[in-house]
Amino acid sequence: MPGDPELESRGRLIRSLGSLREMLPGSFVERKRACGRPNCRCADGKNLHSQYQISVLVEGKPKTFNVPAKWIEQVRQKVEMRHRFDAAAATICGINLRRFLKQKDGR
Ligand SMILES: [Zn+2]
Repeated sequence: MPGDPELESRGRLIRSLGSLREMLPGSFVERKRACGRPNCRCADGKNLHSQYQISVLVEGKPKTFNVPAKWIEQVRQKVEMRHRFDAAAATICGINLRRFLKQKDGR
């Protein structure tokens, strides 16, 4: 007997969540800034330095944290994991809501 395709897809989603365990909250942002050294390339106000940050709510308050240059790609991916986690949770909730409504109506 073939399984319920919705349950199979829910199971696949649940099992995929383990790979997102390193997810980070908030959004990944790039800020341009001048460093203040008068002889630096950024002194013209155009060739600014990039500073990467994560912007996140901590106990309801917005905070930003600088991302060290060597971690930029890693942190970007970890923030992206959170979006995939949220999308998976929304799909799972949708499946469960449909099942709830079906069961409730005795169908
Ligand atoms: Zn500079």
